[in-house]
Amino acid sequence: MARPLVANRDLVRMFADGMDRAPRPCTYCNKCLVNALENPLGCYDETRYGSREEMVAEIMGVFRSA
Ligand code: SF4
Repeated sequence: MARPLVANRDLVRMFADGMDRAPRPCTYCNKCLVNALENPLGCYDETRYGSREEMVAEIMGVFRSA
């Protein structure tokens, strides 16, 4: 269950809103695990994003205040 939550931090809210699947679900590629040793925790599957820059912005978004 952890990887789907890494891929979609708001997954619980999606479920609460009645969705049964995230629009861009985790692909179980395990790139997050490979990167976990040296990079911030996040989804590193570029196929889930429109660009590499979008992916980096999403990963680094955990450091922005709400
Ligand atoms: S890197 Fe792969 S396994 Fe990890 S959260 Fe993203 S899609 Fe899922």
